[in-house]
Amino acid sequence: MLNKLLWRCPVCKTNDSIVCRKRTLRPDLVSCPACGSAWLLLRVKGGTDFRFRAIAGPQRGADRPLAAWYDAMREGFALAAITDATAPLAPGETLYLKGHAEGLRVLRMDPRFQAVIARLPPPAEPPPPDAPPLTEIGEADLFLTDRRLIVRPGPAGAAGEIIGPPLATVRGVQLFIDRYLILRHERRLVEMFEFVAESPLKWQVYLDHALRPISSAGGVKIHMAYD
Ligand SMILES: [Zn+2]
Repeated sequence: MLNKLLWRCPVCKTNDSIVCRKRTLRPDLVSCPACGSAWLLLRVKGGTDFRFRAIAGPQRGADRPLAAWYDAMREGFALAAITDATAPLAPGETLYLKGHAEGLRVLRMDPRFQAVIARLPPPAEPPPPDAPPLTEIGEADLFLTDRRLIVRPGPAGAAGEIIGPPLATVRGVQLFIDRYLILRHERRLVEMFEFVAESPLKWQVYLDHALRPISSAGGVKIHMAYD
């Protein structure tokens, strides 16, 4: 669970590097193999909050609330182009993030799934007559680019890539429990991504940054919600 919250190291900022080891009768040991940091996960005295005490690495000795380490993790975040030879990119398209097949399940659905999207503002447009039915894609690779999310189903699907609606049509992003990321597009199309192992928070942060130039260029207000 902790690696869903701390989706990159608060010290060296390496993605998906945090490992948490439960220990009998001793505090959990949290570490980052990328920079050699290690922390003890301790309770804040008299409270229910947690704190991290660094026992190895560049910030050895630092003892701060978990929220402070979380803020440090977010500090200085910026989108950076990555390369992946298997990514199905169009010419000039920039890849920002790839999700792994074993940890990702994708559902693409129509707007009738109202219970989950109820907290987003109601869309102005009527539902399209050609709204796709609820489709479970199953495990898949997921690529975030500067233009769209690309879903590539695993071997079971083997149906090739599914190019999602462009980011330019996103009107709302919602994080639901600590497992679901929901994108609401124009025309009431909804995509829902279920993350089993990966951090949906990580995808939310990347999406937030990828959507910024789109919302400022188009003057569109994109609603971000957290449940
Ligand atoms: Zn690190």
